Amino acid sequence: MNAKLTLTGLSCIKCGALYPADDRLTCDVCGIDEGILEAEYDMEAVAQGLTREALANRPKSLWRYAELLPLPAEAERPPLQVGWTPLVDAPRMAKMAGVARVILKDDGRNPTASFKDRASAVGAACAKMFGRSTVACASTGNAASSMAGMAASMGIPTTIFVPERAPEPKLAQLLLFGARVLRVHGSYDEAYDLCTKACARYGWYNRNCAINPYLVEGKKTAGLEIGEQMGDNPPDWVVVSVGDGCTVAGICKGMRDMKQLGFLKRLPRVLAVQATGASAFVRQWEAEAEEKLPTEDATTVADSICVSTPRNWRKAVRGVRKSGGTVLAVEDAAILDALRSMPRLSGVFGEPAAAAAWAGVLEARSQGIISADESVLCMVTGNGLKDIRTAVNAAGQPHDIDATLEAVAQVVGEPS
Ligand SMILES: *Cc1c(COP(=O)(O)O)cnc(C)c1O
Repeated sequence: MNAKLTLTGLSCIKCGALYPADDRLTCDVCGIDEGILEAEYDMEAVAQGLTREALANRPKSLWRYAELLPLPAEAERPPLQVGWTPLVDAPRMAKMAGVARVILKDDGRNPTASFKDRASAVGAACAKMFGRSTVACASTGNAASSMAGMAASMGIPTTIFVPERAPEPKLAQLLLFGARVLRVHGSYDEAYDLCTKACARYGWYNRNCAINPYLVEGKKTAGLEIGEQMGDNPPDWVVVSVGDGCTVAGICKGMRDMKQLGFLKRLPRVLAVQATGASAFVRQWEAEAEEKLPTEDATTVADSICVSTPRNWRKAVRGVRKSGGTVLAVEDAAILDALRSMPRLSGVFGEPAAAAAWAGVLEARSQGIISADESVLCMVTGNGLKDIRTAVNAAGQPHDIDATLEAVAQVVGEPS
């Protein structure tokens, strides 16, 4: 697969400068904050290789899209199964939202239980390919635990920067995968900046998606899968929660690719959802500003999207705009309601940032953004066990009873 590398280069999303597809991270002219690069492919060559016939025999993982990934055929990859996550029809959620159909794409089923595995799998393979001895990243939790897992599967050492507030399950994953964990006294944004500086100083491979153009290529595979899994009958909307904006940007790119390649009949509109306490991306969108707006300190129950400075806002804004979609924010209370209703109505248990997407569907419905005859695909970006404390708080208490039938009857009543 991808015997002939179809990747042609990297282009700056701000100034358009072109670079060879090497291990540089950002544009020399626009710098590290603004000069995010985009991987470019020879789409004619991609179209020749990536056919329905070829795909029929490929692995059920993100590696099936070899022609649209930045790795040559011989590149070593993590042996874990990443991607090709299932679609789950959720008719009772559709009924609750008052829409034609709700489909969940359950990315909590990835090896480390979040969407981030898509990016980390590509990141680990790239680090190996470029001969880097250590991979580093800063993360609210999932990118870190995912990177640590992928690296562990390939024997690559990792150094991970996490903010003080990372949930314990994610921290446990990190430590058990053998990462060197630096817990930063500060926010995610501070951890992110520190990681960037440390990478420059120590020569570590920087896994941060907003800065490393190849990582978003991994995230793109969710959009490619939506294109392949739902190509003939695409949903009207694809709903994604947003922190830095890499996830939504990747999904948008993947769906555009699948439209161009003829798999996807029409491009779904993308709804990007944030928490009101961490809604810098929404403000950026609403201002229609071409430059980055000043940001405020973020706070939300959905730790994975608790981001003050969305690093990939430009890519994300363009992606959502090209899809004809829009953005909105939901209150933490709505996220907690969604955290409860999604598992009860579908059997899929998502973490708060995943529930935020579902809360976004309900909000968009009440604002009339999504109409009653439309179908919605909701990205479940992380498994609910990722943040047990919030889940338990939202869940309420069990009935504590003695081990007697009388005690059972006190709760459920006498049999009829
Ligand atoms: C990282 C993450 C997101 C948001 O992705 P960004 O690229 O930061 O916008 C959403 N949900 C979960 C579970 C995540 O881990």
